Amino acid sequence: MKLRLDKYLADMGIGTRTEVKKAITKGQVRVNEETVKRPEIKIDTEKDHVFYQGQMVAYAEYEYYMLNKPAGVVSATEDKNDSTVLDLIDEKQRKDLFPVGRLDKDTEGLLLITNDGELAHQLLSPKKHVDKVYFARIDGKVTEEDVRRFAEGLEIGEEKPTLPAHLEILKSEEISEIRLTIREGKFHQVKRMFHAVEKEVIYLKRLQMGSLVLDPRLALGEYRELTGQELEALR
Ligand code: URA
Repeated sequence: MKLRLDKYLADMGIGTRTEVKKAITKGQVRVNEETVKRPEIKIDTEKDHVFYQGQMVAYAEYEYYMLNKPAGVVSATEDKNDSTVLDLIDEKQRKDLFPVGRLDKDTEGLLLITNDGELAHQLLSPKKHVDKVYFARIDGKVTEEDVRRFAEGLEIGEEKPTLPAHLEILKSEEISEIRLTIREGKFHQVKRMFHAVEKEVIYLKRLQMGSLVLDPRLALGEYRELTGQELEALR
């Protein structure tokens, strides 16, 4: 891929377009062996090596991170009051990263963070029915009747009932534990589905989205890049 030197550096988070133009004209940027002072020169991302203040800046068109989201951070790119999931990705280079879908502030677990809009669309489009798997603790005894009602579809105040969902009871006690697979991603969907059967979600964690499974080695707040295999499977 070929692109202008100033865009290359701005994309990689070195600064705004204006800031990187200044750095280039000041002689702080080298391309291969030569100091270059023209922001408009074209860089071939496959062949050229770009250095800013002596440090090589590799070009990444897309970045993909799997985050184990902790409670207390919001799934947004910026927020006036709270820290966001993007604040947790220290190594990010691109400025155009975003979370693929939203988890509530108090929900934990799998969140994909990328700047690949096409992949995000494939995973989020309501027409694609990508499975999302959640673990939850529920206040109250989850019953076989609930399993049946989740499978039939529930009225949660939307135009149509929810699509059939697979509810598995892991523990049915005063505080129950369940695993739920849904194929939609409506606002507060899991919590609203349990409200529909008069129960309350007290803990929620996403485990899986499509083929992407939360890496159990990631502690809350930790992240890693997706492997080539994970990426291939998602596409
Ligand atoms: N359903 C919810 O209610 N909350 C989430 O964060 C995700 C799914």
